[in-house]
Amino acid sequence: MSDIQDGLSANELFLNGDGLTYNDFIILPGFIDFTADDVDLSSPLTKNITLRAPLVSSPMDTVTESDMAIAMALCGGIGIIHHNCTPEYQCNEVMKVKKYKHGFIRDPVVMGPNQTVADVLNAKKKNGFTGIPITKNGKLGDVLLGIVTSRDIDFRLDDVNMTLEKVMTKVEDMITARKGVTLMEANKILEVSKKGKLPIINDKGELVALIARTDLKKARNYPNASKDSNKQLLVGAAIGTRNTDKVRLSLLVQAGVDVVVLDSSQGNSSYQIEMIKHIKSTFPTLQVIGGNVVTRSQAKNLIDAGVDGLRVGMGSGSICITQEVMACGCPQATAVYQVSNYASKFGIPVIADGGIQSIGQIAKALSLGASSVMMGSLLAGTSEAPGDYFFSDGVRLKKYRGMGSLEAMEKSDTKGSAMSRYYHNEMDKLRVAQGVSGSIADKGSVLRFLPYLECGLQHSCQDIGAKSVKQLQQMLHSGELRFMKRTHSAQAEGNVHGLFSYEKRLF
Ligand code: IMP
Repeated sequence: MSDIQDGLSANELFLNGDGLTYNDFIILPGFIDFTADDVDLSSPLTKNITLRAPLVSSPMDTVTESDMAIAMALCGGIGIIHHNCTPEYQCNEVMKVKKYKHGFIRDPVVMGPNQTVADVLNAKKKNGFTGIPITKNGKLGDVLLGIVTSRDIDFRLDDVNMTLEKVMTKVEDMITARKGVTLMEANKILEVSKKGKLPIINDKGELVALIARTDLKKARNYPNASKDSNKQLLVGAAIGTRNTDKVRLSLLVQAGVDVVVLDSSQGNSSYQIEMIKHIKSTFPTLQVIGGNVVTRSQAKNLIDAGVDGLRVGMGSGSICITQEVMACGCPQATAVYQVSNYASKFGIPVIADGGIQSIGQIAKALSLGASSVMMGSLLAGTSEAPGDYFFSDGVRLKKYRGMGSLEAMEKSDTKGSAMSRYYHNEMDKLRVAQGVSGSIADKGSVLRFLPYLECGLQHSCQDIGAKSVKQLQQMLHSGELRFMKRTHSAQAEGNVHGLFSYEKRLF
């Protein structure tokens, strides 16, 4: 060792076998000869899928459905659609991502001619907009009859039971565009017509999509979007390892899913190994992420069975009580390092899953060899997370719950889905919770939050002296990346201290 080399290599940091968390160590700074903007964040998710940003949203029913998955993919990451729902529902969410076309609303609120002004007022209260297309059967895909905007109902508020047929602007008097119109052409039509909404119809006059002026005004380019060879957004979906999941799997493949995540809190099982082999023999090109694992011997079994990626974490999630209830799991930093170090010998990328609360922890997970991070709580509470906002003590909140919470498992019983993450066989009738249910503050849109995470991560890599995630990992393996353990007082020193009060605004 040179006499000016400080700290420890990762190997030395974990040598004595202590279980470390992200807070227990810090990364020492390196040499900077590039700007933060130059830092390349691309990194593999699986053997065959590379992301422009190493960020993955967790398959939880309060985190990832199509809205989240679309936003994640637009920003260079990927979303994994949860499976606490019927296969049909999950496939529909996958299809919404695959069919997404920037600027086009593919599942607008639509009403029928016999609905009333009161229904429009309710929708306005819930969604914050009017401009609702009216079709024959009240659904997307049927013949467009008209549109109801605030101007149509402003003077009808004394008769909220009036049917929309009587107040709507009829299709003959509306501006519409034909299926196939480009976003630029639509932009022009809205500019000239000065309308707020532009319904898109097919040859039969059926409504296929809607374009909103407000969306166009917000429209940005997403040059780093994660796309397949057909230029459709990438999306993943979680499945279990029961026999019924094989049917779900086939439907997801038909829906166009790019990667499946085998969702188990303890993935080292004969059920998972059998499922991996089934997928690899039935759909050889489909990417499969196995897990969760936290030790090398667990990882070995899944790598031997043929996984394309591994998900690492047991007990580190913010809503998780697994370590407390089951006395089983592993501190996350140690798990990420040990599994990544082993898996890298076989070219298998690792996702560090759970316990990510800040940009610094993303940087730490990548510095320990993970190729991407999976987040639940950090993304819950955003406008793209499923669920409605509610207020408590004046704070705007959304629900966030563990998939092993009694609440989530009860939903799985009623929805007929196979929420088997926490159960290996159907005989397990008595539920033992491994997660909690809570709420989380409104964080605004993921489309603003992810660029903040990405920019922060670039700055972090710059401080460490790595011009890319790839270089960061080369530095890890060569021992050039230096770490230091943090005592309790070091951790206290590294946080805000000595102030009477402060506001922690992050971006
Ligand atoms: P977070 O980002 O710290 O909130 O952790 C999210 C991760 O926790 C998920 O990706 C899962 O791996 C894990 N998880 C989800 N639900 C539960 C649960 O009920 N118990 C334990 N872990 C959970």
